[in-house]
Amino acid sequence: MVDLTKPVCIFLPGQLSELQPTGVLPEVDIPVTVEGFAERVPPTKCEPTPKPGVVLYRKFVLEHLGGGDSGICRGCGGQPAKSEHNEGRAWDWTVDANNPADVARVEQLFDWLFKPGPNGEPEANFRRAGLRYIIWDGRIRSSRTREWRPYSGASRHRDHVHTTFSWPGALAQTSFYQWLTGAPPGLPTEPPPLVQGITVAQIAVAMAIGGAAGWLGADLFTRARPE
Ligand SMILES: [Zn+2]
Repeated sequence: MVDLTKPVCIFLPGQLSELQPTGVLPEVDIPVTVEGFAERVPPTKCEPTPKPGVVLYRKFVLEHLGGGDSGICRGCGGQPAKSEHNEGRAWDWTVDANNPADVARVEQLFDWLFKPGPNGEPEANFRRAGLRYIIWDGRIRSSRTREWRPYSGASRHRDHVHTTFSWPGALAQTSFYQWLTGAPPGLPTEPPPLVQGITVAQIAVAMAIGGAAGWLGADLFTRARPE
């Protein structure tokens, strides 16, 4: 059984093939006010370790909708950080724009992210999850523009959905993560521990595996994917 809570940079396809997604995205029924739209904070750090909110969000999407994992982190290769992947606060969800089943998954996620909250709050789950921007199939939608616009980057992103997280989202400090982890509503949240109930030695092994996978991912994706 693949453990989606592991803070690895990337799950390999064989590890995810046993997943049986529910096909349904649950309602975020938490009595905490929907946060405002995430602020833009450009990447500055070379810190390619998966941040806890990104790990939780990836798990949520994969276990409910399926698809694949194209990774969270990338090294900087000695260069300044130019992507939130360099800070472990972006995720690439493997889906294929030529595959109708994958397109349906993506549309289901976007419907869930961008629908109003119970009190009419626009784009409620996008805000609750602390997401900054999403790129898919030649379009980009951000917390600043709040609408889909043409994406001019080199990759049209037809083989993955790119998602960048704000720092509060990446650190699991917003209400989506409160709801997901069962933290008491209405209280300030702390980032959950990356790994629970295992030994320091196991953490070291997990981080070594995650780091190796991250560098593999870095090598594979940095050249092919600007985002
Ligand atoms: Zn990406």
